[in-house]
Amino acid sequence: MSVEDAARRPLPAPDADTAAFWRGLQEGKLLLQHCRRCRHVQYYQQATCRQCGSEELEHRPARGRGKVHSFSVVHRAPGPAFKADVPYAVLLVELVEGPRMISTLTGSNPADVTFDMDVELTFERASDDITLPRFRKA
Ligand SMILES: [Zn+2]
Repeated sequence: MSVEDAARRPLPAPDADTAAFWRGLQEGKLLLQHCRRCRHVQYYQQATCRQCGSEELEHRPARGRGKVHSFSVVHRAPGPAFKADVPYAVLLVELVEGPRMISTLTGSNPADVTFDMDVELTFERASDDITLPRFRKA
């Protein structure tokens, strides 16, 4: 890996299972999968319901609200690409729909994050193809 590559942030590579999810983010929507059979809601995209195994899944945009279930403040960059970002807060957000997702805080001091803090979804365009879901204090 060259120095330039190492300094570039790694971005997700959408595949067939996750293409709709990444397209949704580009359109300003965080898509959750709702099971038509058992009503389970899941965040991470997969072909079947994790609760009942049904394939009858439907994409619906999240309302974009949640609470900080857990968090960690990163002071040492995991690689050169993240050096400019430290310190930053990695959040485990519990969405109002139920699923929990890992993301990062934007727009306020990471030292101000608390458990159960209300957060709202925001979108960060990282490249022409990739928009990342992030959260800010609500
Ligand atoms: Zn189900």
